[in-house]
Amino acid sequence: MKIIDSIDEWKIARKNELGDSTVGFIPTMGGIHQGHCALIQKSLQDNDITVVSIFVNPTQFNDPNDFKNYPNTLTQDLEILSELGVDYLLLPKQAEIYPNGYQFKIGENIEQHRLEGKSRPGHFEGMLTIVLKLLNIVIPTCAYFGEKDYQQYQLIQKMCQDLFLDIKIIPCTTIRESDLLACSSRNLNLSKNARKKAAIFANIFHKDSDPDNIKSLLNRNNIEVDYVEIVDKRLFAAVKIDGVRLIDNREVCELS
Ligand code: AMP
Repeated sequence: MKIIDSIDEWKIARKNELGDSTVGFIPTMGGIHQGHCALIQKSLQDNDITVVSIFVNPTQFNDPNDFKNYPNTLTQDLEILSELGVDYLLLPKQAEIYPNGYQFKIGENIEQHRLEGKSRPGHFEGMLTIVLKLLNIVIPTCAYFGEKDYQQYQLIQKMCQDLFLDIKIIPCTTIRESDLLACSSRNLNLSKNARKKAAIFANIFHKDSDPDNIKSLLNRNNIEVDYVEIVDKRLFAAVKIDGVRLIDNREVCELS
């Protein structure tokens, strides 16, 4: 696995080493887990070359503490990625990604008013801005995103269509631990006790499809609810457990 931390160096490699190869791209913020690995494995199957990036993007964090505490497990990440057979790992630097500070950003007018968009002001702007920058840098054939962040996947899909980017956006199903908790880098920040509560959250989220029932069950278990809502036949939830924000979503059959 080639590790590249300069955009110019990547551009030279892209031009000189990749020729007509198909390129699959998986942008991540590190803290590599089974969910990331599933995206990477799909890319390895579909493409000649697989590129992963790790960049903890400051502009998508509305909560400075969340940014500060975001897991950093680089040494372990490198081992996992190279063992999987990733061809290139990009570790871009903040100063190169944001050479003009945050002068230019991608605005969005619909999803920013609901679910994650509503709860995390500025999050989608920051997320779309970094994804567009990375897609323009990498120029992949296909890019892979998890349904775990469903609004994010949909927004990226629509942004690429709307801005005429010639890149296939490929969704991957949510990977879960054996107790149904969705894999997430933030799970690393859960204490033993909080991890148990997180499993209770996942369990309740899968047991019932009525947002009001789910909310009251979560409340009864002392789990702080941000939202539980059905949008377009999908159930979405966000909770906070001992300061760690967790989200989940799944398809539901709406009751008639
Ligand atoms: P992150 O490092 O959290 O920014 O995630 C990088 C990519 O991995 C995004 O496309 C996420 O949606 C995806 N991802 C994160 N967790 C999971 C999961 N449990 N299952 C599938 N994809 C995931």
